[in-house]
Amino acid sequence: MVRGLQDGDRIVQGSINGSRDESVTGAKGEDPRLLRWVAGQFRPYRGKVGLVGVLILVTAGLGTANPLLVKVVFDQALFVPGGPNVGLLGLLVGLMIAITIVAGGLSVWRAYLTNTVGQQVMSDLRSRLYTQLQALSLRFFTATRTGEIQSRLANDVGGLQTAITDTASTILSSTVILISTIAAMSMLSWQMTLLSMAILPLFGWQALVAGRARRRVSAKTQVALADMSAIVEETLSVSGILLTKIFGRQAAETARYAAQNERLTALQVRQQMIKQGFSIGVVTFFSLTPALIYLVAGFAQDVSPGTLVAFTSLQFQSFTPLSQLLGTATEVSSSLALFHRVYGYLALTPDIIDSPTAVPLPTPARGAVQLDDVWFSYDGAAPMSPNGSTNGSRSVTEHRWALRGVSFDVAPGMLVALVGPSGAGKSTLSYLIPRLYEATRGAVRIDGIDVRQTTQASLAQTIGMVTQDSYLFHASIRANLAYGRFDASDADIEAAARAAQIHHRILEFDDGYDTVVGERGYRLSGGERQRIAIARVILKDPRVLILDEATSALDTVNERLVQAALAPLMAGRTTIAIAHRLSTIRAADVIYVIDAGRIAERGTHEELLASGGVYARLYEEQFGAGAVEACWDRGGDNGYPQSHAPTRTC
Ligand code: ATP
Repeated sequence: MVRGLQDGDRIVQGSINGSRDESVTGAKGEDPRLLRWVAGQFRPYRGKVGLVGVLILVTAGLGTANPLLVKVVFDQALFVPGGPNVGLLGLLVGLMIAITIVAGGLSVWRAYLTNTVGQQVMSDLRSRLYTQLQALSLRFFTATRTGEIQSRLANDVGGLQTAITDTASTILSSTVILISTIAAMSMLSWQMTLLSMAILPLFGWQALVAGRARRRVSAKTQVALADMSAIVEETLSVSGILLTKIFGRQAAETARYAAQNERLTALQVRQQMIKQGFSIGVVTFFSLTPALIYLVAGFAQDVSPGTLVAFTSLQFQSFTPLSQLLGTATEVSSSLALFHRVYGYLALTPDIIDSPTAVPLPTPARGAVQLDDVWFSYDGAAPMSPNGSTNGSRSVTEHRWALRGVSFDVAPGMLVALVGPSGAGKSTLSYLIPRLYEATRGAVRIDGIDVRQTTQASLAQTIGMVTQDSYLFHASIRANLAYGRFDASDADIEAAARAAQIHHRILEFDDGYDTVVGERGYRLSGGERQRIAIARVILKDPRVLILDEATSALDTVNERLVQAALAPLMAGRTTIAIAHRLSTIRAADVIYVIDAGRIAERGTHEELLASGGVYARLYEEQFGAGAVEACWDRGGDNGYPQSHAPTRTC
C-alpha cells in the first residue's frame, strides 16, 4: 500500500515542518485518497474480513429470530384459548436458548477475527511508519521534533485502535442487524415501522455535525499530545534535564508542561462531551419512541398483544445498531484526523534514495574522494544560480548557500585537514560525502562514481565518521562497539578497543565490556565516549574516514588518549579531518581553509603560514603567537605544554 502512495501526488520530504503542516494534521477537507488508502490497509486480510462479514450476516439473522419467536410464543403458545400450549412453549423456549448460545459463540469468533485483523493492521502501520522514517534523510530530522515523531508512532497509531478494530465490523454488523430488524418490523406492521423511522434523518444530520466537531477537536488533541511528547523528550532527556537544571528552569518547565497538560485535558473533555452529548440525545429519543407506538396501536385497535410486544422488542433491538452506526460515524470522522497524520508521514517522498541504476561501490574501495564544483543550500531550493546571478537580489539570497563551488580531489590514503572559522561549512561539507545531504549543484564522487549513482548501503560501508557528538545507545559497551560490525568476535572487539586506547579503562568498570553506558552514553566521560566511538569505527574498518576532531569535551589526559586512538584509525585510509589539533594539521598532506562556504586557501601548514592569508590570520587571532603551539600541540607527540598553556581548546 505504501507503493500505491508513491505516485506523483506524494509530499516531498522537507515540505513538512513540524506538526503544523495542514496536510498532516488533517485540517484540510476530506480526501478520497485517504479513504482509499485506509481501505487498502485491510487488503492483505481480505479473507478474514470476508469471514467476519459472513459471521455478521449469520449472527444478525439469528438476532432477529428471537423477537419473531416471541410473537409465536405470545400468540400461539401462551395466550391461546384453553390455556398455554406447554409442549409448544417448551420447544420454542429451547429454540430461543439454542439460538442465543450459537449467536454468542459466533460473536466471540467474530470478535477474535476483528481484533486479530485490527491489531495486524496497526502493527503494519507502525512498521511501515518506522521503515519510512528510517528512509527519510537527515534534513527531515533536523526540521522535526523527536517528540512529534514519537507521538505519531505511539499516540496517533495507538489512537486508531478503536477505529481499525471496530469500525468496519460495527458498520457491517449494525447495517445488517438494522436491515433485518426493520424487515422483521415491517412484516409485523409497516405503518408502525414507517413511524419509527421517520425521525432518522434528524439523527443523521446530528451525527454529521457531531462528527465534524469531533474531527476538528481530535486533530487539535493529537497536536497537543505531540507537543507534550516533545516537551517530555526535550526536557527529560539527559541533555535536556542537564540544561534545565543548569539554568534553574525546573519551575518554568513544570509550568510549561502543566499549561500544555491543561490544554490537552480541556480538549479531551470537549472530545468526550461531543461524543457523550450526542449519544445521550440519541438514547433519550429512542426511549420515547415505544410510547408513540403504544399510542398508535391504541388508535389502530387491530394490533394483537403479541405483535405489539414483538414490535417493541424489535424496535428496542434496532436502537443498538442505530446508535452504534451514528456513533461510528462520529468516531470515523475523528479517526480521519489521526489517519491524516499517519498518512502525512507515509506520503513523504524521501529526498535521498537509491537511483534505480545505482551500483554498489567496489569492495574494497580505493578511497578517492572528489568534490566537483559543489554548491549546497539547506533550504533545498536553489535560491540563486551557482554563478551568483539572481534576479537582482543577490545580497538577499546569497547567504543561503552553505557551500559555494567547492572542488577538491583527495587521493586514496591521503590525510586532508579542513580548517576554518565557525559556520564556514566544514561539517556541511563532511555530510555531503556519505550523502547524508545531497549537493544542490555539482557532484561528489567516491572512486570516480557519483554518490547519487551508488547505493547508500555501499556508501555507509565505505565511509566511516567520528562526529563531535559521539552518540552511544543505552546498551552495553560490547553492544555499542559491535554496532560497527555485527559479526565482530569478542577478540575483534577487544583489539579495536585496545587500538582506541580504551580497553584498560573498560576493564576498570565493574561489568567490563558488559557495562551499560546509560542514555546516550552519559555514564561515561566525554573522552571515554569518544574513544569508544573511535573503536566502533576501527571495527567497521571503512576505506574513507571523516573525522570531526572536537576536543572541547576533553581534558588534557583524555585529549592525549583520543589523539593516540586516532593514529591507528587514520593509518592507511583516506582521512578527511575537520582538524583542531596541530598534530593533525601538520601531518596533513593538504590543508583546505574553508571560509564562508568556499575554499579560501590550500597548502601545507608552513605554506599557508608563509602566505599570510586567512589561515595565518586564524592562527594568529585564535591562538596568538606561541599559544597555538602550546594549545595545538597539547596531547600531541610533544606532550603537555610546560608553560601556562591557554585552557581554551582548539
Ligand atoms: P563549526 O566549526 O562551528 O562546527 P562549520 O564550519 O562546521 O562550523 P557548518 O555546521 O557546516 O559550519 O554550518 C555552515 C552553515 O550552515 C552555518 O551558517 C549554519 O548555520 C548552517 N547550517 C548548519 N546546519 C544547518 C541546518 N540543519 N539547517 C540550516 N542551516 C544549517
